[in-house]
Amino acid sequence: MGLGTLIGQYARLLVTEGTGPFHKGVKIACRVTGLTGLDAPAILARLLAGFPTRVLEEQPLRFQCRCSRERVDAAIVAMGRAELIDVLAHERRAEVVCEFCGARYVVEEPELRALVPGS
Ligand SMILES: [Zn+2]
Repeated sequence: MGLGTLIGQYARLLVTEGTGPFHKGVKIACRVTGLTGLDAPAILARLLAGFPTRVLEEQPLRFQCRCSRERVDAAIVAMGRAELIDVLAHERRAEVVCEFCGARYVVEEPELRALVPGS
């Protein structure tokens, strides 16, 4: 996904809320096709037309999901003891797929058992 596409999608998200001048500017920019292919300053200039801007910091853009096995374990613990025991009794393992990046985490029975509160 290119930067233009990413910013375009973010802009479309912004459009769903708000009616102020900024949102109007975003709506106009979204109607202008061809945001993809523009560099970041050009996209910002188009999205923020009429607003004074100053670049405070630049960072390389990359997709990085914050999911981890530790977060998956915490989510499993949050299910509660009764639910965990039910999963152990029926599926004997847990499979968690991150909604954001699609990473798949499999928690096998021994690890699942260790996550049961009070075990
Ligand atoms: Zn993820």
